Amino acid sequence: MNKIPQDPPLSPDTNDSSPLALPEGGDPPHVDLRSEGGDPPHVVHRRTRVSIHAVIPAAGFGQRFDPGAGSASKAKQYYELGGEAVIVRTVSALLAVELLGMVWVVLAPADQEGQSLLEQRFAACHQRLRIARIGGAQRRDSVLAGLKLAKESGANWVMVHDAARPLISRAAIERLISRCLRQGHGGILGLPVVDTVKRARSEPNDPLIEQTIPRERLWLAQTPQLFPADRLVLALERFPEVTDEAAAIEKLGDPVVLVKGEPGNIKLTYADDVHELALRLNQTANPLLRVGEGYDVHALVPGRALMIGGVRIDYPLGLLGHSDADVLLHAITDALLGAAGLGDIGTHFPDHDPKWRGVDSRVLLSKTVDAIQQHAWSIQNIDCTVVAQRPKLLPYRDAIIDSLACCLRIERQAVNFKAKTQELLGFEGRGEGISARAVAMIANSVS
Ligand code: MG
Repeated sequence: MNKIPQDPPLSPDTNDSSPLALPEGGDPPHVDLRSEGGDPPHVVHRRTRVSIHAVIPAAGFGQRFDPGAGSASKAKQYYELGGEAVIVRTVSALLAVELLGMVWVVLAPADQEGQSLLEQRFAACHQRLRIARIGGAQRRDSVLAGLKLAKESGANWVMVHDAARPLISRAAIERLISRCLRQGHGGILGLPVVDTVKRARSEPNDPLIEQTIPRERLWLAQTPQLFPADRLVLALERFPEVTDEAAAIEKLGDPVVLVKGEPGNIKLTYADDVHELALRLNQTANPLLRVGEGYDVHALVPGRALMIGGVRIDYPLGLLGHSDADVLLHAITDALLGAAGLGDIGTHFPDHDPKWRGVDSRVLLSKTVDAIQQHAWSIQNIDCTVVAQRPKLLPYRDAIIDSLACCLRIERQAVNFKAKTQELLGFEGRGEGISARAVAMIANSVS
């Protein structure tokens, strides 16, 4: 068993990160950083190799948090929620997101106990976890310290997340990453203000309303917050007084996108938050699960390229269809739409619409994944089968799984691909066509 790196300096190591390298020719739509017209001043352009690390500042002591007898001496990130320390839940939530390379936890220099806890808890799955006891007195100091280590280790984007927000969902993180990469600049999770907002006069002990503030454009900021690493270093060095990372980036004049977060992404700040977190935790531990199935078939004809799962297959015949007729991607698209209760592929992408003529089916699947995520669903796994007498698809298995994982924005291990012949029976057996079946499971842990 490998040891988690101890005190800094931690050796730069990018081998076990998960960079999103844009492939040659035909970028997957979800990492299409295309920008049209005049770019904002600091847009990360397409063709940039993306490597996102997370930084969790956890050197603070949470003086506002007083849960009562016997617990007051603990920093809030070590408060046990449902039998697990808050920080352990937070780290687990980030490690579950394969799009994140390393996860840096920045502890106070004297916090040996915290380091031991994390090492023990993540001993079996620590490859992407880095612990650095170099935190400072202020949040900004800890973020900056972790950010610099992440940057030295190859990160060009850094996602900062509060140690005391343990219930962040994978879907919300993926939504933030997707939006920021697509737009080429930083962003944060937030929630639109729904209550009427009053500003009080300055007497804190006997507040009187001074003004009602229009709420239409007001949002409550959450974490994670995701930014290009070099811009965040510059911003935090230049503006040390800010209370969150976005504020520093705003002061630089860079754009920051607001991405809808989740009501359950609560920050443990006051003792009252414990009860709310416990309720939410129960919901998170029992996520809503849905399954969907998809089926598709296309005829084999001369003069067409054969596309299966986004991979070009070397074969003299190809599948006939309005789009590129990628039978497997169509089956998976239908499985996802079915699981989320969103209809079917023909409704969303009609085959009489000239817009979809000859389209790369990865575009259709990517739009479907967008829709799934916008409804707060996250894809748990995909199982799929292609039935084709010829050609043999086994040599393409790894390429197809890689392609599917990329399109679906999930880890490779969550994709299973099978190829079957039809024992010479039926239209597949006679080589007249190819069919595909897929099953998708999705989860929604949002209340
Ligand atoms: Mg089809």
